[in-house]
Amino acid sequence: LPNRNDSKIREYNVWLIFTKVRIDSPLKHKFHNLIVNLLNVSSVPLKFNVIVDDVSWKIAFMEFGKISNNTMQSVSYIFYNFTEVASKIHDIATVLTPHFSSRPGTYYSDALFYVSLGLHRIAPPDQDLAVLLDCDLYFKDDIAILFKEFARFKSTALFGLAPELTPVYHHVLHIYRSKHTSTFGDYYHLKNISKTVHPRGFQGYNSGVVLLNLRKIRQSKTYSKILSKSSVDSLTEKYNFRGHLGDQDFYTLMGYEYPDLIQTLNCGFNRQLCTWWKDHGYKDVFNNYFKCKHKIIVLHGNCNTPIPK
Ligand code: UDP
Ligand code: MN
Repeated sequence: LPNRNDSKIREYNVWLIFTKVRIDSPLKHKFHNLIVNLLNVSSVPLKFNVIVDDVSWKIAFMEFGKISNNTMQSVSYIFYNFTEVASKIHDIATVLTPHFSSRPGTYYSDALFYVSLGLHRIAPPDQDLAVLLDCDLYFKDDIAILFKEFARFKSTALFGLAPELTPVYHHVLHIYRSKHTSTFGDYYHLKNISKTVHPRGFQGYNSGVVLLNLRKIRQSKTYSKILSKSSVDSLTEKYNFRGHLGDQDFYTLMGYEYPDLIQTLNCGFNRQLCTWWKDHGYKDVFNNYFKCKHKIIVLHGNCNTPIPK
């Protein structure tokens, strides 16, 4: 059956996380620039869903005010309180933090890194589709093109993510790869190793851009099962996986074990710019991971990399 996800889109819900922001935070400018950028490139009406804390919401409110004063478009937005958000995903954060956080134990602030995995509980129940974006992005083209990717989802896909463009998961899988022959952690290559889950390599996923089919996530029995403590503990043990990148570590593990649940977007939908790993032991192979030959729709200035415009 053709997958008609996009024909249902009436509201284009964009989610942003904007917490721990102070009046002089760089994140304030990234947030402002991204909203202006999205309003400029979008051919569809957007609704901004912004997760804020008690201090950050005032800053976000001010920025929306400035933006509204400078445009003829009506700017539609709604705030969600981070304390409530954190309580709704407390169980998820508790299960994942020991495996995927750099400083496990700070559960409350860590919830920030797992919001996408529980967004189906946070979003209003009638919200079927959502796009969660980092603030350090720049859209070179219409965000409607990104929403159109929902229509290309395989029927089993809950999430859509583009590849991680560094060798970080090659690094994380070091022990596993020393004991097993696997394409997990390999960069994408043309040689097809048949009968493996990712025959042309698998770099893992980056969560700076996440497409969520919230309706299917809410309905999925598999998804809630694989988020249980016993499942996460055994998955991480199987791959000797100790990460520090939060939700995207979990998506990458899902990509190993439950590839049907994730639609891989092409790298042009999240063209990361961080080159940290190039100078940390991966000079020779870095470019094999970093290359992206697709048309660039979204630039991602991750690890605070300036975005060339
Ligand atoms: N973020 C936030 N407060 C913070 C740090 C991060 O709200 O103090 C949010 C913000 O939306 C940001 C996202 O978390 O875009 C991910 O962080 P960042 O983009 O800096 O991580 P990177 O892409 O460099 O790994
Ligand atoms: Mn980012």
